[in-house]
Amino acid sequence: MRKQFAVIGLGRFGSSVCKELDKLGHEVLAIDKDVEKVNQITNFSTHAAIANGTDETALQSLGIRNFDYVIVAIGDNIQSSVLCTLLLKEMGVERVWVKAQNDYHHKVLEKIGADKIVHPEQDMGTRIAHHLSSEKIIDYVELSENYSIVELSATTKVKNKSLVDLDVRANYGCTILAIKRGANVNISPAPTDAILEGDILIVIGHNKDITSFEEEGL
Ligand code: ADP
Repeated sequence: MRKQFAVIGLGRFGSSVCKELDKLGHEVLAIDKDVEKVNQITNFSTHAAIANGTDETALQSLGIRNFDYVIVAIGDNIQSSVLCTLLLKEMGVERVWVKAQNDYHHKVLEKIGADKIVHPEQDMGTRIAHHLSSEKIIDYVELSENYSIVELSATTKVKNKSLVDLDVRANYGCTILAIKRGANVNISPAPTDAILEGDILIVIGHNKDITSFEEEGL
């Protein structure tokens, strides 16, 4: 279903959220107080408006409360980000997602009712660190403190072996969820499916089990 989104603040984060939502076919209203930023997004959004996210009247006249989601991506200006979030919640916007700068900002956003708080730089930093620490780790998504989903590249060690041969669950305690091969993703691999060199294995499990599979099994 086509959803309606508004993105307030069109820095690097806000503008990439906007462009991607637009690409996915959603209706996106892009808002920034800087005319230049608004001009740059017009071809990648459904509507674009110059407005201050801390101006209640301006937000009202844009009909902001009718959007399914409003993303507050105001950068360094924590005060504006907090005020904008507060106004949106007071106006009755159901889902307000906010980019936080630091832990203090996060705490305040939590208190004033932000529905989801994201830390894109920290999250990306963690993912890149995992990739750097082992070249076999292509990507990493933390599910909780102890559990993750990791993309691991299949090495020559597992080439032409089937999932039964590897028996990752019995040997390491984690599970191969899917196998990526080029643009294809096999989301329900059969036990007899063979792994080819260059495949990417999507593995879910406890961090220590994934690490032992990555270090000893691949
Ligand atoms: P990023 O780290 O994502 O690149 P930036 O700090 O560069 O973030 O960008 C934040 C954007 O938010 C800027 O384009 C800025 O003009 C916009 N912005 C800041 N304050 C407001 C506000 N009160 N209302 C609307 N847009 C704002």
